[in-house]
Amino acid sequence: MSPVRGIEVDDLELRAELVATTLAMCAARLNTGSSGNASVRTAGGMLITPSGLAPDACTPEDMVVVDADGRADARLAPSSEWRLHHDLYAHRPEAGAIIHAHAPFATALACQRLEIPPFHYMIARFGGNTVRCAKYATFGTQALSDHIAAAIADRSACLMANHGMLVFGRNLANALALAIEFETLCEQYWRVRQLGKPVLLSDSEMREVVERFRWYGKPAEQLPE
Ligand SMILES: [Zn+2]
Repeated sequence: MSPVRGIEVDDLELRAELVATTLAMCAARLNTGSSGNASVRTAGGMLITPSGLAPDACTPEDMVVVDADGRADARLAPSSEWRLHHDLYAHRPEAGAIIHAHAPFATALACQRLEIPPFHYMIARFGGNTVRCAKYATFGTQALSDHIAAAIADRSACLMANHGMLVFGRNLANALALAIEFETLCEQYWRVRQLGKPVLLSDSEMREVVERFRWYGKPAEQLPE
């Protein structure tokens, strides 16, 4: 395969992985049509899905390179939400890949502008006792990016008021798995609310879970007593 303009051959694998991630987002019903987007951190900035193109119409060459200064170098425009991806990589060094989706249950909660409380211990997977909802601002604006930075502080997920959800992970596979887990939790919370007020876990119960998740997936010899 020949190199695309300005792109190293190695990056073609990452481009293909990004396309595969967006197709998997559709298969998991996180997204439909051209809504939602995904990106992955690169040495010089990020690789992000293009604006307004449905995942099943995308090729690896359609993925857009955006450098650390926010300059795009491609024949297609980057996703209209490129700014919030760019800002999140700048502020959160642990973010290796980001997924934004209008997933049905997350979006339903986001349209109620709800903060998700510790109704289930798996909330701790996203870094704390709650998952916050970022304030509303028009899509693609700096104001929306700023609201997300505040809502996702010390967390790896947030809802976006009257819009959807944002999740980041170590890499594309991790971000996708977390996005699917998050939408599942949103569905569970949506169902629980049909039954009335859920019983919430206490701060100390959640502290213990957050601590355990810190060691989740680590080799046995590194685990605490
Ligand atoms: Zn959106």
